[in-house]
Amino acid sequence: MMMADNLFLKIINKELKANVVHEDDQCLAFTDVRPQAPVHVLIIPRKVIRTHDDLGEEDKALIGHLHLVAVQLAKKLNLTDGYRLVLNCKERAGQTVPHLHLHLLGGRAMTWPPG
Ligand code: 5GP
Repeated sequence: MMMADNLFLKIINKELKANVVHEDDQCLAFTDVRPQAPVHVLIIPRKVIRTHDDLGEEDKALIGHLHLVAVQLAKKLNLTDGYRLVLNCKERAGQTVPHLHLHLLGGRAMTWPPG
């Protein structure tokens, strides 16, 4: 079912297991269960924000923090040749979990345009 269940909230609340690679007071990062690249990490805010379209002025620092965590993780995971950040907003763009998340993908060459 598309966008029905907020599985990521269950991961935040430790009701669902995940391979957590980063955790702090604002966000969590864990490996994607269906990796699309050798490195595929999801970075999510602890705050429930359904989609990118729901971001407000009050989220400025938070969204900046998610990006800085991506930089930190890219270093930690040795993505020195580059990486791709993906954020799918709403079903038509491929969003399946109703909790804003950044995909950090790397470890292989990427093509453009994405599908
Ligand atoms: P979206 O399609 O919404 O941009 O990305 C959702 C991502 O979450 C997908 O890449 C999917 O593989 C991943 N995913 C869905 N359910 C789970 C889960 O229970 N655990 C983990 N680690 N990843 C999940």
